[in-house]
Amino acid sequence: MIEITNLQKTFGELEVLKNISLNIMDHEIYGLVGKSGAGKSTLLRCINGLETYSAGKLLVNGIEIKGLNKKELRLYRKNIGMIFQDFPMLSRKTVYENIAYPMKCWKYGKDDIEKRVKELAGIVGITDKLEQKPDTLSGGQKQRAAIARALSMNPEILLSDEATSALDPVTTKSILDLLKDINEKLGITIIMVTHQMEVVRSVCQKVSLLENGKIVESGDVQELFLKQPEAFRRFLGNEE
Ligand code: ATP
Ligand code: MG
Repeated sequence: MIEITNLQKTFGELEVLKNISLNIMDHEIYGLVGKSGAGKSTLLRCINGLETYSAGKLLVNGIEIKGLNKKELRLYRKNIGMIFQDFPMLSRKTVYENIAYPMKCWKYGKDDIEKRVKELAGIVGITDKLEQKPDTLSGGQKQRAAIARALSMNPEILLSDEATSALDPVTTKSILDLLKDINEKLGITIIMVTHQMEVVRSVCQKVSLLENGKIVESGDVQELFLKQPEAFRRFLGNEE
């Protein structure tokens, strides 16, 4: 479980996160939406331990992230996978080597790596692409490879930062179906940052809407779509 209480983050004078409070249950798919600059990626980076926060609490499975030393942080981060809009990959390495990379860093044996890469490639549906370089893959296939890499260390949590924003609607749907599948079959908690309400509607159970670093609306996705409170309606109306 992820428990965030009165989280604040400032960059110099700029308050980027203001008293953010939210709870994310295990196995949930939780959406974070909001306009550009609202603070979504910063919040993800705080959860991932890539960014420290200025005040408040951030507990993951009861452990305060701020209190972790370097070694503990490294172990903590092993338990979190992350995927992005532009599916960054090591371009000189094959898809196989890209997926294997985190396991190599953690000094897994060659046979274990091979078994796991093949298993992951099967889960995400790119078994026939393993020997290719990432640049020879389509956007959707690249994101599948990135998802496989993000899952390589068997994380409990997957953070997704606009993972489908660069994809066409059909490919978006196939990636969302894959994420839903992963959530159901592997029980992974997914936090999905997006500016697309359709993404939230089709996969998330809960959502928080951020405006200028503040949560202005939070709740059950179906209920919010039904009730359409003011801030939510305003965001739907201005959706890019
Ligand atoms: P987008 O939808 O465009 O990705 P976002 O909601 O993810 O936006 P963030 O990237 O979290 O927004 O940025 C929130 C605010 O924090 C912005 O005003 C941004 O300029 C500022 N910011 C983010 N990172 C830094 C940094 N390292 N130093 C200074 N300001 C930063
Ligand atoms: Mg962002």
